Amino acid sequence: MPTYEYQCENCGHEFEQFQSITARPLRKCPNCKKNSLNRLIGSGAAVIFKGNGFYETDYRSESYKNDQKKEKESADKKTATKDKKEKTKDKKPGTKSKDKKKPA
Ligand SMILES: [Zn+2]
Repeated sequence: MPTYEYQCENCGHEFEQFQSITARPLRKCPNCKKNSLNRLIGSGAAVIFKGNGFYETDYRSESYKNDQKKEKESADKKTATKDKKEKTKDKKPGTKSKDKKKPA
């Protein structure tokens, strides 16, 4: 007879239960008497620990992103001053061509 692990979604109660394979999975929690039991398959708890690892990786990549942002910001500053010069340049011929059209 295999041992099944159960966890209650309601109160978090965990326990092991000997059951035959043909037996129906339990639903009722012996702790809080609610039908909120989950049968755990394999090492379900290991997934939770893996989740913590993901958080650390995210944190690291976040600081990496910040470094990239700094580089991009300094690059944006250069292009911003360049754009300003081109804009003032473009404005003058733009008004001139408008004045040219008016008399015609
Ligand atoms: Zn419970």
